[in-house]
Amino acid sequence: MPAQRLMPTEESTDLIELTRSIVDKELRPVIADLDASATFPRDVFRTLGRAGLLSLPYPEEFGGGGQPYEVYLQALEEIASASASVGVGVSVHALSCFGLFTAGTEDQKQAWLPEMLSGELLGAYCLSEAHAGSDPAAMRTRAVRDGDDYVITGAKAWTTHGGRADFYKVMARTSDDGSRGISCFLVPADTPGLTADNPEQKMGLMSSTTATMLFDGVRVPAERRLGAEGQGLPIALAGLDAGRLGIAAVATGLAQEALDVAVAYAKEREAFGKAIIDHQGLAFVLADMAAAVESARATYLAAARLKDAGRPYSRQASIAKMVCTDNAMKVTTDAVQVLGGAGYTKDFPVERFMREAKVMQIFEGTNQIQRLVISRSLAR
Ligand SMILES: Cc1cc2nc3c(=O)[nH]c(=O)nc-3n(C[C@H](O)[C@H](O)[C@H](O)COP(=O)(O)OP(=O)(O)OC[C@H]3O[C@@H](n4cnc5c(N)ncnc54)[C@H](O)[C@@H]3O)c2cc1C
Repeated sequence: MPAQRLMPTEESTDLIELTRSIVDKELRPVIADLDASATFPRDVFRTLGRAGLLSLPYPEEFGGGGQPYEVYLQALEEIASASASVGVGVSVHALSCFGLFTAGTEDQKQAWLPEMLSGELLGAYCLSEAHAGSDPAAMRTRAVRDGDDYVITGAKAWTTHGGRADFYKVMARTSDDGSRGISCFLVPADTPGLTADNPEQKMGLMSSTTATMLFDGVRVPAERRLGAEGQGLPIALAGLDAGRLGIAAVATGLAQEALDVAVAYAKEREAFGKAIIDHQGLAFVLADMAAAVESARATYLAAARLKDAGRPYSRQASIAKMVCTDNAMKVTTDAVQVLGGAGYTKDFPVERFMREAKVMQIFEGTNQIQRLVISRSLAR
């Protein structure tokens, strides 16, 4: 059953319908095979891009869709309900354009943003390193000034779209001044010295490629630095506030799909002479799942509306990321339970949903780190 949405305008209602029809036609029929074969669906991203679904939250003057987050996130949720891997990819692409949009000069934006938002290119976001995940200020990858260029050397771990992206937003150390010694660069994929290590062998999100990006003397013109030297971490973290809303929406789409599969199964499957949904003990599990999905949606929409109104929303973004991803973990685990033994097999998608939900609690700041952000803001 499609999620019930109260969209702010007729145009945004049409956008949701369009997203559903593209996703039903292009994504749902192929996602199980893509996942089983761990295939990265570059064509699907092209299709979404051509329909304008890769650039929704950016202004029309740069080729974006000009949609508020309230609308963008609900379209993203629809994509993620068909494929969490692709939903994460759409969110990461938006994240990788965010630094240029918020910290770039007018000239930089005019030069690169329209192409990045054209739907033909795909971006990646390189913050984490092997020893610096939750604590990115511990990063070691260096960008050393050399005349009109910077030369970047090091390794950025866990890059979603690593080796598949057309451009990389890269945070690298330009001085030893801790969190104030990091700068942000926009690096084209074909820059000499930039290569991808072998993809990670993950437990879920099989059709989303994740790889360490290796920087071996990667030379980028100084004009590809976004913001001032030393401003890289604030730029990266501001992007993560918006990115966390994206992950919250993806997790909610995943949870909605798990709920839908569980309800459909519970209406068909019989035990003790009646459909299992007619056993109150099981029906209450489904009721709790529905409540978790709808309260997750309300939580991310509340944060999105703050962002759209230009109000501070960092704490609410962390709350949304934490609530939506914890709820998705619970809902997908319960979906496996509702399907009983069948839920534990690959004949049904709920085991995949459960594996996919787990990573949502880990990336873009683990849910412990979200609690850190929330509690620090309360203590201020
Ligand atoms: C599939 C996947 C895709 C990813 N994509 C990207 C990407 O595109 N770009 C990118 O930059 N990164 C990406 N990441 C990296 C991700 O953001 C990190 O894995 C995450 O931030 C956690 O870092 P870590 O793995 O080093 O864990 P660690 O930092 O080592 O944490 C280990 C554990 O300690 C806990 N912990 C750490 N510090 C604290 C603290 N202060 N208080 C309480 N608990 C704490 C953590 O919550 C966690 O449970 C991706 C990761 C995965 C798995």
